[in-house]
Amino acid sequence: MKITRVSSVVYRQQLKLTGPQPKFAGEARAGFETLLIKVETDEGLVGWGEAFPHRVWAGIRSFVETLIAPACVGADPTDISALMNKLYRHTYGVGRAGPVMYALSGLDIALWDILGKAANLPIYKLLGGAANPKVPAYASLLKYNDTAVVTRTTEDALGRGYRELKVHETGLNEVTAAAKVLRQKTGASLMVDVNAPWDLQQALAATAPMRELDLKWVEEPVWPPEDFGAAAEISESGVPVAIGENVLSPTDFARLIETRAVDYIQPSVSKIGGISVMRDIYVLANQASVSVAPHSAYFGPGLIATAHLSAALSRAPMVERLYCDLTESPFGDWYEPKDGFLALPQGPGLGIEPDLKLLDKLKVE
Ligand SMILES: [Mg+2]
Repeated sequence: MKITRVSSVVYRQQLKLTGPQPKFAGEARAGFETLLIKVETDEGLVGWGEAFPHRVWAGIRSFVETLIAPACVGADPTDISALMNKLYRHTYGVGRAGPVMYALSGLDIALWDILGKAANLPIYKLLGGAANPKVPAYASLLKYNDTAVVTRTTEDALGRGYRELKVHETGLNEVTAAAKVLRQKTGASLMVDVNAPWDLQQALAATAPMRELDLKWVEEPVWPPEDFGAAAEISESGVPVAIGENVLSPTDFARLIETRAVDYIQPSVSKIGGISVMRDIYVLANQASVSVAPHSAYFGPGLIATAHLSAALSRAPMVERLYCDLTESPFGDWYEPKDGFLALPQGPGLGIEPDLKLLDKLKVE
């Protein structure tokens, strides 16, 4: 089998709002884009992957077209490591991490989709199979900066069956309110994602009053995100720490695992290099008994791939599901958890094919 074409397509789903417009990654959001990488072959098999899109999808589309696609045509898509290693060397001069690697991450996922289709097996079975056919999804709330809205949204999410929950809030009032509701309703510990706002001293001061909330973790407490020593200091002060969605090389993950700097590591399949690199990180983390809590703020193949990976390779499977209601998805309603769980797709590869008509309708040029 040979690759005949590699291309990309972006689609946008709008948020269905019932209250004030929330923020995500520092911006007011009305919708979310998904950047798909499509790989076509001479045998008619088509693979789909997802690259991290936020604010950079136009640039990534250009990388795919000019740098990556021409180097893929003619290659065997089932020989994934050979092709990916060739591409790493082909692109390293323009960056070993960041947007180029986001594009390659999407490509790698698409290649695994093709491999699964060629073998007639879902990806989680290619990775060794799963003890449980469904994965717990935690509700990852957007940022509201309003205690009443955070409380109401937490109650909504728990009412829909989620058992674990994360807020994107820095205010102690919002965090405390959500932690209390969650503890009362499910007994679980809240996760708090602050998106790297503080230097070490500020982070120590801001997280000190959170100690008594018995959080599951505080995520990205310090700037810069690559200061693993500062993250370790927060953890040592008594609040568990999670980082990783902005740790962008496998070598840095190896260092994080080896030094046990933080309590949870959070590789992101659509940023770090796709399923192949995620698999390596899971193996390394499992060997060192370091917990992996993948970043999966995606709605397409990035989320589906994370579910396959986590179910097959994690000792405590979990995926992050951004908590919001969106207009129709080309990948259907699979991403709506039932009683807090996402069922592993059982079809070959990713296990879900996009609705091409809907994709065309939602497409962004
Ligand atoms: Mg995060």
